[in-house]
Amino acid sequence: MTKIAVCVCSGGIDSTIAATIASHEGYELHFFHASYGQRAEDREKETVKKIARYLGAKDLKLAEIPFLKELGGSALTDIKREVPVAEEVNLDVEKETPSTWVPCRNLILLAHASAYAEVIGAEALSVGFNAEEARSYPDNELEFVKRYNVVLEKAVASFSQPPVVKAPLVQLLKPAIIKKGVEVEAPLHLTYSCYFGEEKHCGICESCLHRRRGFKDAGVEDPTEYMH
Ligand SMILES: [Zn+2]
Repeated sequence: MTKIAVCVCSGGIDSTIAATIASHEGYELHFFHASYGQRAEDREKETVKKIARYLGAKDLKLAEIPFLKELGGSALTDIKREVPVAEEVNLDVEKETPSTWVPCRNLILLAHASAYAEVIGAEALSVGFNAEEARSYPDNELEFVKRYNVVLEKAVASFSQPPVVKAPLVQLLKPAIIKKGVEVEAPLHLTYSCYFGEEKHCGICESCLHRRRGFKDAGVEDPTEYMH
């Protein structure tokens, strides 16, 4: 019987590697991307389409969640707020909530992806949550995954089998993630990480800085062209 995974994918390195791992595990891939007013949403959508095609996905759902944009409260969704760059970015443990935090984003995205999984009878939800992001964003922690999986048991219909969130990178930092990506032959060259959504990566936002440092510390050649 076909095993199905819904791959929650932003087009970045982590979710792309997680989807590649699900593919190796024999899942039929159904991609899910959400636009919630993030600056890079159009670039992300284009990127996810390429990745889904590359990995032979069966389907791709592009969800629109405009409420998060209306709500604001994040430098990613509110253009009046500045996205920190270069030395304004603290890549490791934060002392306060980063301005790029999007309120309850992973919970909201997973809720949408879970509904999709229930409708198509998917067994798994593939996510790129990881230990590097978890330093600043608690919705990347293993504990979040475990608790969400418990909630899912009561979130689907009585006669539906609840899907299980699988986060194969949850214990890993970026260099180990990139090594894993090379090992599973993930299409890292297709991925896009920048918060700004320009054609080329800026090279100095938090997401670009994590990406750059990850490749460097992994000793893997970085295929990315950076503006700065
Ligand atoms: Zn950037």
